[in-house]
Amino acid sequence: MIDKKQIKDGASTILNGLGIKNWETDENFKDTPKRIADAFFEVCGSLNLDTEYQFKKLFESTYSSTNNQMIVIDKIREYSICPHHLFSYSMDVKIGYIPQGKVIGLSKLPRLVKLLANKPVLQETLTEDIANALMEYLVPLGCGVIVKAHHGCISVRGVKQIDAITTTSIMKGCFLVNPVKLEFLSL
Ligand SMILES: [Zn+2]
Repeated sequence: MIDKKQIKDGASTILNGLGIKNWETDENFKDTPKRIADAFFEVCGSLNLDTEYQFKKLFESTYSSTNNQMIVIDKIREYSICPHHLFSYSMDVKIGYIPQGKVIGLSKLPRLVKLLANKPVLQETLTEDIANALMEYLVPLGCGVIVKAHHGCISVRGVKQIDAITTTSIMKGCFLVNPVKLEFLSL
């Protein structure tokens, strides 16, 4: 669970470490540790949730289907925190699956992404986590997940590549077979 007090204390230490004088009485800085604690509480909200319970809730309302068409949802916009620098990254997520008797409401897929993304997590891990959750709880014939992300840690520091996009992708089950994979990539 998130401990706001510890984050607030840590943020105060950062301000001291930066050598900012009298920040405790400066209008612009005095509430900064609290604001930082509130922000982390919000953007790492998944850390306060019981992930297993949330998975069960998400996947309890599936619909039976005899359909074997590929279902693809693209441009799910989400954000996360990189565990190496605690900088934020924003992303577009594309998810596809071919059902095996069971489909899930479309709104559940962005919810799944949010649940797995809103905490410090590597983009590669997140990509895999989304696919693993689908395979485990929805049990489709296969699925594919592609994440395209814009990382704060390489745009505002280090190499300062403000437009660089990092892409990660994973295919499971029948999506490993070329015609299916190519269909997913082209949609
Ligand atoms: Zn980073």
